[in-house]
Amino acid sequence: MSGRLLIRGARQLLTLRGPSGPRRGASLRDLGIIENGAVLLDGPRILEVGPTRRIESLAEARGVRAIDATGKVVMPGFVDSHTHLVFGPPRLDDYEMRLEGKSYAEIAAAGGGIASSVRAIRSWTAARLASHAAPFLDLAARHGTTTVEIKSGYGLDAVSEIKMLKVAAALGGVPTFLGAHALPFEFEGRPDAYIDWLCAEVIPDVARRKLAVFADVYCDRDAFTREQAQRYLEVARSHGLLLKIHANQFARIGAAALGVNLVAVSLDHLEHLDDGEIQLIARSQSVATLLPGSVFHLGLHEYAPARSLIDEGAAVALATDFNPGTSPTCSMPMILSLACAQMRMTPAEAIAAATINGAHALKMGDRAGSLEAGKQADLLVLALGDYRELPYYFGANHVELVIKSGEILNVPKTG
Ligand SMILES: [Zn+2]
Repeated sequence: MSGRLLIRGARQLLTLRGPSGPRRGASLRDLGIIENGAVLLDGPRILEVGPTRRIESLAEARGVRAIDATGKVVMPGFVDSHTHLVFGPPRLDDYEMRLEGKSYAEIAAAGGGIASSVRAIRSWTAARLASHAAPFLDLAARHGTTTVEIKSGYGLDAVSEIKMLKVAAALGGVPTFLGAHALPFEFEGRPDAYIDWLCAEVIPDVARRKLAVFADVYCDRDAFTREQAQRYLEVARSHGLLLKIHANQFARIGAAALGVNLVAVSLDHLEHLDDGEIQLIARSQSVATLLPGSVFHLGLHEYAPARSLIDEGAAVALATDFNPGTSPTCSMPMILSLACAQMRMTPAEAIAAATINGAHALKMGDRAGSLEAGKQADLLVLALGDYRELPYYFGANHVELVIKSGEILNVPKTG
Protein backbone atom coordinates (compact mmCIF):
# COMPACT_ATOMS: atom_id res chain seq x y z
CA MET A 1 0.00 0.00 0.00
CA SER A 2 1.52 3.30 -1.03
CA GLY A 3 1.30 6.30 1.31
CA ARG A 4 -0.67 8.16 -1.31
CA LEU A 5 -3.95 9.88 -0.59
CA LEU A 6 -6.23 11.79 -2.96
CA ILE A 7 -8.60 14.51 -1.77
CA ARG A 8 -10.94 15.11 -4.66
CA GLY A 9 -13.92 17.18 -5.76
CA ALA A 10 -13.47 20.19 -3.49
CA ARG A 11 -15.98 22.87 -4.37
CA GLN A 12 -13.33 25.40 -3.42
CA LEU A 13 -9.71 24.30 -3.14
CA LEU A 14 -7.84 27.21 -1.51
CA THR A 15 -4.26 26.63 -2.66
CA LEU A 16 -2.75 29.91 -1.37
CA ARG A 17 -0.17 29.37 -4.12
CA GLY A 18 1.81 32.46 -5.05
CA PRO A 19 5.11 34.29 -4.72
CA SER A 20 7.74 32.95 -2.36
CA GLY A 21 7.61 35.83 0.17
CA PRO A 22 4.90 36.87 2.64
CA ARG A 23 1.67 38.19 1.14
CA ARG A 24 1.14 41.96 1.19
CA GLY A 25 -1.56 44.36 0.00
CA ALA A 26 -3.89 42.97 -2.66
CA SER A 27 -2.01 39.64 -2.81
CA LEU A 28 -3.23 38.91 0.75
CA ARG A 29 -6.72 38.44 -0.75
CA ASP A 30 -5.62 36.01 -3.44
CA LEU A 31 -6.41 32.52 -2.17
CA GLY A 32 -5.53 30.82 -5.48
CA ILE A 33 -8.91 29.06 -5.61
CA ILE A 34 -9.44 26.03 -7.85
CA GLU A 35 -13.08 25.04 -8.27
CA ASN A 36 -13.64 21.29 -8.23
CA GLY A 37 -10.05 20.89 -7.10
CA ALA A 38 -7.99 17.94 -5.93
CA VAL A 39 -4.79 17.38 -3.97
CA LEU A 40 -2.66 14.27 -4.32
CA LEU A 41 -0.50 13.48 -1.30
CA ASP A 42 2.53 11.23 -1.25
CA GLY A 43 3.26 10.42 2.39
CA PRO A 44 4.15 13.64 4.22
CA ARG A 45 4.42 15.73 1.02
CA ILE A 46 2.06 17.17 -1.57
CA LEU A 47 2.64 15.58 -4.96
CA GLU A 48 0.16 17.47 -7.16
CA VAL A 49 -2.59 20.09 -6.90
CA GLY A 50 -5.11 21.00 -9.62
CA PRO A 51 -8.55 20.42 -11.13
CA THR A 52 -9.99 17.08 -10.02
CA ARG A 53 -10.28 15.72 -13.56
CA ARG A 54 -6.59 16.33 -14.29
CA ILE A 55 -5.30 15.03 -10.96
CA GLU A 56 -7.45 11.87 -11.13
CA SER A 57 -6.09 11.07 -14.58
CA LEU A 58 -2.46 11.07 -13.40
CA ALA A 59 -0.73 7.70 -13.34
CA GLU A 60 0.38 8.46 -9.76
CA ALA A 61 -3.28 8.78 -8.70
CA ARG A 62 -4.40 5.43 -10.03
CA GLY A 63 -5.89 3.18 -7.38
CA VAL A 64 -4.95 5.38 -4.42
CA ARG A 65 -7.18 5.86 -1.41
CA ALA A 66 -9.50 8.81 -2.05
CA ILE A 67 -11.41 11.20 0.19
CA ASP A 68 -14.46 12.76 -1.42
CA ALA A 69 -14.68 16.49 -0.66
CA THR A 70 -17.55 17.19 -3.04
CA GLY A 71 -19.32 20.41 -2.12
CA LYS A 72 -16.72 21.30 0.53
CA VAL A 73 -13.82 23.69 1.07
CA VAL A 74 -10.28 22.28 1.22
CA MET A 75 -7.49 24.54 2.48
CA PRO A 76 -4.03 24.47 4.09
CA GLY A 77 -3.87 23.77 7.81
CA PHE A 78 -3.59 26.82 10.04
CA VAL A 79 -0.14 27.95 11.18
CA ASP A 80 -0.53 29.33 14.72
CA SER A 81 2.71 31.29 14.98
CA HIS A 82 2.29 32.70 18.51
CA THR A 83 1.26 30.59 21.52
CA HIS A 84 2.18 30.04 25.16
CA LEU A 85 0.65 26.56 25.01
CA VAL A 86 2.70 25.01 27.83
CA PHE A 87 1.32 26.30 31.13
CA GLY A 88 -0.04 25.18 34.47
CA PRO A 89 -3.60 25.49 35.82
CA PRO A 90 -6.02 27.94 34.18
CA ARG A 91 -6.11 31.33 35.93
CA LEU A 92 -9.78 31.27 36.79
CA ASP A 93 -9.56 33.37 39.95
CA ASP A 94 -7.75 36.09 37.98
CA TYR A 95 -10.45 35.91 35.34
CA GLU A 96 -13.23 36.36 37.85
CA MET A 97 -11.43 39.14 39.73
CA ARG A 98 -10.83 41.03 36.49
CA LEU A 99 -14.50 40.71 35.56
CA GLU A 100 -15.33 42.16 38.98
CA GLY A 101 -13.18 45.17 38.11
CA LYS A 102 -10.09 44.35 40.18
CA SER A 103 -6.78 45.81 38.99
CA TYR A 104 -3.65 43.89 37.97
CA ALA A 105 -2.05 44.98 41.24
CA GLU A 106 -4.97 43.59 43.28
CA ILE A 107 -4.88 40.33 41.31
CA ALA A 108 -1.12 40.01 41.83
CA ALA A 109 -1.52 40.78 45.55
CA ALA A 110 -4.02 37.92 45.77
CA GLY A 111 -1.37 35.54 44.41
CA GLY A 112 -2.56 35.58 40.80
CA GLY A 113 -1.11 36.88 37.58
CA ILE A 114 1.92 35.49 35.82
CA ALA A 115 3.59 34.62 39.15
CA SER A 116 1.00 31.87 39.68
CA SER A 117 1.88 30.36 36.29
CA VAL A 118 5.57 30.53 37.20
CA ARG A 119 4.97 28.65 40.49
CA ALA A 120 3.23 25.83 38.62
CA ILE A 121 5.84 25.53 35.88
CA ARG A 122 8.67 25.38 38.41
CA SER A 123 7.00 22.68 40.49
CA TRP A 124 5.58 20.47 37.74
CA THR A 125 7.65 17.80 36.03
CA ALA A 126 8.16 17.86 32.27
CA ALA A 127 5.87 14.84 31.98
CA ARG A 128 3.09 16.58 33.89
CA LEU A 129 3.45 19.73 31.80
CA ALA A 130 3.35 17.71 28.59
CA SER A 131 0.29 15.75 29.63
CA HIS A 132 -1.45 19.01 30.57
CA ALA A 133 -0.55 20.66 27.24
CA ALA A 134 -1.27 17.70 24.94
CA PRO A 135 -5.09 17.94 25.10
CA PHE A 136 -4.86 21.62 24.08
CA LEU A 137 -2.66 20.70 21.15
CA ASP A 138 -5.24 18.10 20.19
CA LEU A 139 -8.02 20.68 20.54
CA ALA A 140 -6.06 23.13 18.36
CA ALA A 141 -5.60 20.41 15.74
CA ARG A 142 -9.32 19.62 15.74
CA HIS A 143 -9.87 23.32 14.99
CA GLY A 144 -7.47 23.06 12.06
CA THR A 145 -4.04 24.00 13.42
CA THR A 146 -1.32 21.84 11.88
CA THR A 147 1.74 23.94 12.82
CA VAL A 148 2.15 25.63 16.18
CA GLU A 149 4.82 27.77 17.76
CA ILE A 150 5.21 27.37 21.53
CA LYS A 151 7.05 29.81 23.81
CA SER A 152 8.80 29.33 27.12
CA GLY A 153 8.52 32.21 29.57
CA TYR A 154 6.69 30.83 32.62
CA GLY A 155 9.81 29.28 34.16
CA LEU A 156 12.07 32.32 34.47
CA ASP A 157 14.95 30.25 35.82
CA ALA A 158 17.36 28.22 33.72
CA VAL A 159 16.07 24.77 34.66
CA SER A 160 12.39 25.65 34.21
CA GLU A 161 12.84 27.57 30.96
CA ILE A 162 14.77 24.67 29.46
CA LYS A 163 12.13 22.24 30.75
CA MET A 164 9.46 24.27 28.92
CA LEU A 165 11.46 24.35 25.68
CA LYS A 166 11.95 20.59 25.78
CA VAL A 167 8.23 20.04 26.36
CA ALA A 168 7.41 22.42 23.47
CA ALA A 169 9.69 20.50 21.12
CA ALA A 170 8.47 17.10 22.33
CA LEU A 171 4.91 18.20 21.51
CA GLY A 172 6.03 18.97 17.96
CA GLY A 173 5.90 22.76 18.37
CA VAL A 174 8.37 25.31 17.03
CA PRO A 175 10.14 26.30 20.26
CA THR A 176 10.73 29.97 21.15
CA PHE A 177 12.82 31.10 24.10
CA LEU A 178 10.91 33.81 25.97
CA GLY A 179 13.09 34.09 29.07
CA ALA A 180 12.48 37.85 29.01
CA HIS A 181 8.73 37.47 29.58
CA ALA A 182 8.55 38.82 33.12
CA LEU A 183 10.83 39.49 36.06
CA PRO A 184 11.18 36.53 38.47
CA PHE A 185 10.96 37.37 42.17
CA GLU A 186 14.65 36.49 42.61
CA PHE A 187 15.50 39.58 40.54
CA GLU A 188 12.82 41.86 42.04
CA GLY A 189 13.75 45.48 41.26
CA ARG A 190 16.77 44.40 39.18
CA PRO A 191 15.59 43.94 35.60
CA ASP A 192 19.00 44.81 34.13
CA ALA A 193 20.65 42.13 36.24
CA TYR A 194 18.07 39.60 35.04
CA ILE A 195 18.67 40.51 31.37
CA ASP A 196 22.45 40.32 31.94
CA TRP A 197 22.06 36.87 33.47
CA LEU A 198 19.85 35.64 30.60
CA CYS A 199 22.40 36.96 28.09
CA ALA A 200 25.42 35.49 29.85
CA GLU A 201 24.07 32.16 31.05
CA VAL A 202 20.80 31.05 29.50
CA ILE A 203 20.76 32.23 25.87
CA PRO A 204 24.18 30.68 25.06
CA ASP A 205 23.10 27.37 26.63
CA VAL A 206 19.72 27.32 24.83
CA ALA A 207 21.41 28.12 21.50
CA ARG A 208 24.26 25.65 21.91
CA ARG A 209 21.84 22.82 22.72
CA LYS A 210 19.53 23.91 19.88
CA LEU A 211 16.54 24.06 22.24
CA ALA A 212 14.91 27.01 20.46
CA VAL A 213 14.54 28.40 16.95
CA PHE A 214 13.48 31.89 18.06
CA ALA A 215 14.14 34.28 20.94
CA ASP A 216 11.31 36.58 22.02
CA VAL A 217 10.99 39.41 24.56
CA TYR A 218 8.09 41.23 26.18
CA CYS A 219 8.93 44.90 25.57
CA ASP A 220 6.27 47.29 26.87
CA ARG A 221 5.37 49.71 29.62
CA ASP A 222 5.56 47.73 32.90
CA ALA A 223 7.70 45.11 31.11
CA PHE A 224 11.23 45.19 29.69
CA THR A 225 12.47 48.51 28.30
CA ARG A 226 13.56 49.07 24.76
CA GLU A 227 17.22 49.12 25.86
CA GLN A 228 16.89 45.85 27.79
CA ALA A 229 15.06 44.21 24.88
CA GLN A 230 17.72 45.34 22.43
CA ARG A 231 20.54 43.93 24.55
CA TYR A 232 18.74 40.58 24.92
CA LEU A 233 17.79 40.28 21.23
CA GLU A 234 21.27 41.23 19.99
CA VAL A 235 22.84 38.55 22.16
CA ALA A 236 20.24 36.02 20.99
CA ARG A 237 20.95 36.92 17.38
CA SER A 238 24.71 36.61 17.90
CA HIS A 239 24.07 33.03 19.07
CA GLY A 240 22.12 32.22 15.91
CA LEU A 241 18.56 32.53 17.21
CA LEU A 242 15.94 34.21 15.02
CA LEU A 243 14.07 37.09 16.61
CA LYS A 244 10.50 37.88 17.63
CA ILE A 245 9.23 40.68 19.85
CA HIS A 246 6.03 41.32 21.85
CA ALA A 247 5.62 44.93 20.70
CA ASN A 248 3.21 47.83 21.21
CA GLN A 249 0.57 45.80 23.05
CA PHE A 250 -0.31 48.37 25.69
CA ALA A 251 1.96 51.36 25.01
CA ARG A 252 4.20 52.89 22.38
CA ILE A 253 7.75 52.72 23.73
CA GLY A 254 9.52 52.01 20.44
CA ALA A 255 9.34 48.21 20.56
CA ALA A 256 8.04 47.79 17.00
CA ALA A 257 10.79 50.07 15.66
CA LEU A 258 13.37 48.09 17.61
CA GLY A 259 12.10 44.88 16.02
CA VAL A 260 12.24 46.41 12.55
CA ASN A 261 15.81 47.64 13.16
CA LEU A 262 16.92 44.20 14.31
CA VAL A 263 15.13 42.57 11.33
CA ALA A 264 12.96 40.49 13.66
CA VAL A 265 11.09 37.76 11.79
CA SER A 266 7.87 38.96 13.41
CA LEU A 267 6.52 41.84 15.47
CA ASP A 268 3.66 40.53 17.59
CA HIS A 269 0.58 42.32 19.04
CA LEU A 270 0.86 45.92 17.65
CA GLU A 271 -2.40 47.17 19.16
CA HIS A 272 -0.96 50.67 19.60
CA LEU A 273 0.77 52.16 16.56
CA ASP A 274 1.02 55.67 15.19
CA ASP A 275 1.14 56.43 11.45
CA GLY A 276 4.94 56.57 11.40
CA GLU A 277 5.19 53.13 12.97
CA ILE A 278 2.64 51.71 10.51
CA GLN A 279 4.76 53.04 7.63
CA LEU A 280 7.93 51.67 9.17
CA ILE A 281 6.40 48.20 9.61
CA ALA A 282 4.87 48.25 6.12
CA ARG A 283 8.28 48.89 4.55
CA SER A 284 10.08 46.32 6.70
CA GLN A 285 10.86 42.64 6.24
CA SER A 286 9.13 41.72 9.52
CA VAL A 287 5.74 40.00 9.61
CA ALA A 288 3.14 41.90 11.67
CA THR A 289 1.49 39.17 13.76
CA LEU A 290 -1.85 40.34 15.14
CA LEU A 291 -3.43 38.67 18.17
CA PRO A 292 -7.06 39.79 18.55
CA GLY A 293 -7.87 37.01 21.04
CA SER A 294 -6.17 38.85 23.90
CA VAL A 295 -7.99 42.13 23.16
CA PHE A 296 -11.29 40.23 23.15
CA HIS A 297 -10.66 38.24 26.31
CA LEU A 298 -9.46 41.27 28.27
CA GLY A 299 -12.63 43.10 27.24
CA LEU A 300 -10.61 45.87 25.61
CA HIS A 301 -11.58 47.78 22.51
CA GLU A 302 -8.37 48.81 20.78
CA TYR A 303 -7.55 46.13 18.27
CA ALA A 304 -4.44 46.37 16.10
CA PRO A 305 -4.93 48.62 13.04
CA ALA A 306 -5.04 45.70 10.59
CA ARG A 307 -6.75 47.68 7.86
CA SER A 308 -4.06 50.41 7.81
CA LEU A 309 -1.24 47.87 8.06
CA ILE A 310 -2.57 45.85 5.12
CA ASP A 311 -3.42 48.88 3.00
CA GLU A 312 0.06 50.33 3.56
CA GLY A 313 1.65 47.04 2.49
CA ALA A 314 2.61 45.25 5.72
CA ALA A 315 2.78 41.45 5.78
CA VAL A 316 0.04 40.66 8.31
CA ALA A 317 -0.32 37.29 10.08
CA LEU A 318 -2.89 36.12 12.65
CA ALA A 319 -2.29 33.87 15.66
CA THR A 320 -4.11 32.86 18.86
CA ASP A 321 -1.62 34.01 21.55
CA PHE A 322 -3.05 31.01 23.43
CA ASN A 323 -2.16 31.56 27.11
CA PRO A 324 -3.91 31.24 30.49
CA GLY A 325 -3.90 34.94 31.36
CA THR A 326 -5.00 36.98 28.36
CA SER A 327 -6.05 34.68 25.50
CA PRO A 328 -7.33 31.27 26.56
CA THR A 329 -8.34 30.08 23.10
CA CYS A 330 -6.49 27.77 20.76
CA SER A 331 -9.12 28.11 18.02
CA MET A 332 -7.84 29.74 14.85
CA PRO A 333 -11.38 29.95 13.36
CA MET A 334 -12.37 32.11 16.36
CA ILE A 335 -9.37 34.36 15.65
CA LEU A 336 -10.50 34.68 12.02
CA SER A 337 -13.98 35.75 13.15
CA LEU A 338 -12.45 38.38 15.45
CA ALA A 339 -10.12 39.60 12.68
CA CYS A 340 -13.06 40.12 10.34
CA ALA A 341 -15.59 41.57 12.77
CA GLN A 342 -13.24 43.68 14.91
CA MET A 343 -10.34 44.54 12.59
CA ARG A 344 -12.22 44.74 9.27
CA MET A 345 -10.09 42.14 7.55
CA THR A 346 -11.82 40.34 4.69
CA PRO A 347 -12.36 36.57 5.03
CA ALA A 348 -9.75 35.98 2.31
CA GLU A 349 -7.20 38.22 4.04
CA ALA A 350 -7.82 36.49 7.36
CA ILE A 351 -7.30 33.04 5.83
CA ALA A 352 -4.04 34.05 4.11
CA ALA A 353 -2.84 35.72 7.33
CA ALA A 354 -3.57 32.52 9.30
CA THR A 355 -1.87 30.14 6.84
CA ILE A 356 0.86 31.32 4.46
CA ASN A 357 1.78 34.47 6.38
CA GLY A 358 1.78 32.53 9.65
CA ALA A 359 4.26 30.18 8.01
CA HIS A 360 6.44 33.15 7.05
CA ALA A 361 6.25 34.38 10.65
CA LEU A 362 7.97 31.08 11.53
CA LYS A 363 10.41 31.16 8.57
CA MET A 364 8.55 28.11 7.21
CA GLY A 365 7.02 29.76 4.14
CA ASP A 366 8.88 27.35 1.87
CA ARG A 367 7.37 24.29 3.61
CA ALA A 368 3.97 25.15 5.07
CA GLY A 369 0.99 27.47 4.68
CA SER A 370 -0.07 26.66 1.12
CA LEU A 371 -1.09 23.68 -0.99
CA GLU A 372 1.67 23.40 -3.59
CA ALA A 373 3.68 20.46 -4.91
CA GLY A 374 6.58 19.63 -2.61
CA LYS A 375 5.15 21.25 0.50
CA GLN A 376 4.06 19.52 3.71
CA ALA A 377 0.82 17.58 3.35
CA ASP A 378 -1.03 19.66 5.98
CA LEU A 379 -4.61 20.39 4.98
CA LEU A 380 -8.19 20.70 6.11
CA VAL A 381 -11.56 19.66 4.75
CA LEU A 382 -14.26 22.06 5.98
CA ALA A 383 -17.92 21.12 6.20
CA LEU A 384 -18.65 24.35 4.35
CA GLY A 385 -19.22 25.20 0.70
CA ASP A 386 -17.76 28.71 0.68
CA TYR A 387 -14.61 29.86 2.51
CA ARG A 388 -16.35 33.05 3.67
CA GLU A 389 -18.55 30.91 5.91
CA LEU A 390 -15.50 30.08 8.04
CA PRO A 391 -15.34 33.43 9.90
CA TYR A 392 -19.04 34.11 9.30
CA TYR A 393 -20.45 31.18 11.31
CA PHE A 394 -18.47 32.22 14.38
CA GLY A 395 -18.07 30.22 17.55
CA ALA A 396 -18.51 26.79 15.99
CA ASN A 397 -16.05 24.33 14.56
CA HIS A 398 -16.58 23.53 10.88
CA VAL A 399 -13.31 21.63 10.42
CA GLU A 400 -14.35 18.15 9.36
CA LEU A 401 -11.02 16.52 8.58
CA VAL A 402 -7.44 17.42 9.48
CA ILE A 403 -4.47 15.96 7.65
CA LYS A 404 -0.99 16.63 9.02
CA SER A 405 2.12 15.33 7.27
CA GLY A 406 -0.16 13.12 5.20
CA GLU A 407 -1.78 11.51 8.27
CA ILE A 408 -5.47 11.89 9.04
CA LEU A 409 -5.56 13.26 12.59
CA ASN A 410 -9.15 13.49 13.68
CA VAL A 411 -10.88 10.26 12.79
CA PRO A 412 -10.33 7.04 14.71
CA LYS A 413 -7.96 4.70 12.95
CA THR A 414 -9.51 1.39 11.89
CA GLY A 415 -7.98 -2.01 11.20
ZN1 LIG B 1 2.36 36.31 23.69
